[in-house]
Amino acid sequence: MTEIPEDHPRYESLLTRHRIEAGVDAGITSRQGLIAQGRGEAFDYLLGERTIESADAAERAAAAQLLLAERPVLSVNGNVAALCPGELVELADVVDAALEVNLFNRTDERMEAIAAHLREHGATEVKGLTADGRIPGLSHERAKVDADGIGAADVVLVPLEDGDRAEALAAMGKIELVVDLNPMSRSAQAADIPIIDNIIRAVPNVTRHARKLRGAPREELDAIVAEFDASAALDDAERAIRNGTTQE
Ligand code: ATP
Ligand code: MG
Repeated sequence: MTEIPEDHPRYESLLTRHRIEAGVDAGITSRQGLIAQGRGEAFDYLLGERTIESADAAERAAAAQLLLAERPVLSVNGNVAALCPGELVELADVVDAALEVNLFNRTDERMEAIAAHLREHGATEVKGLTADGRIPGLSHERAKVDADGIGAADVVLVPLEDGDRAEALAAMGKIELVVDLNPMSRSAQAADIPIIDNIIRAVPNVTRHARKLRGAPREELDAIVAEFDASAALDDAERAIRNGTTQE
């Protein structure tokens, strides 16, 4: 890799891009993941590569929802595994959630590579390889989940999820937390809590909120979730993106 100078004005963005590239080389990220990343970057650029206020509120509500959950699961795909594996393992620890590898283009090699990568970053158990459960309404390969993982989860965090699967998970009655930089994406629209932020900022932020909220009474957590307005958050993000080029 060519060194990226830390004072480069687009340092974070270049680093992120490099991580995805390395993910492809390591067999963790699919080549299509490169395209998804480019799409995300465009939205992030317009957002000013920052966590907007409504996204921070979504991250706090997501933390509360994960703490309230009986069986929370964090879904991991090839882009997420390449971008923030350690941060996801840390979030799973803080909210006591399971990690499950869940791929759009599922191959055994990639499933194994991602599970091994997460273990290298401290995960003790990684679900997704058993694949003895199905999401109703999806074609065979794309429907596969672990019956005791996403299959039995009450709350799922699905970052950068495909729109069809996000809708199918919502139809199963799961409480769905989606991280996606595009507020107009079907995934974001299907979410109970859409987080319109870059995954590399979103995950550490949810963890930070979860640490603060960990000892809070259930009523307080319930109130944080109830106060969160998903459609207002989507509107706010869309407004920020549309104003992105004219603002400040
Ligand atoms: P659909 O329209 O059915 O929802 P899609 O066309 O959005 O699907 P993809 O292009 O695979 O399908 O989606 C990738 C999504 O992930 C995009 O919405 C993109 O903005 C988002 N994304 C990509 N990289 C990141 C990232 N680092 N953080 C957050 N979101 C990201
Ligand atoms: Mg989408």
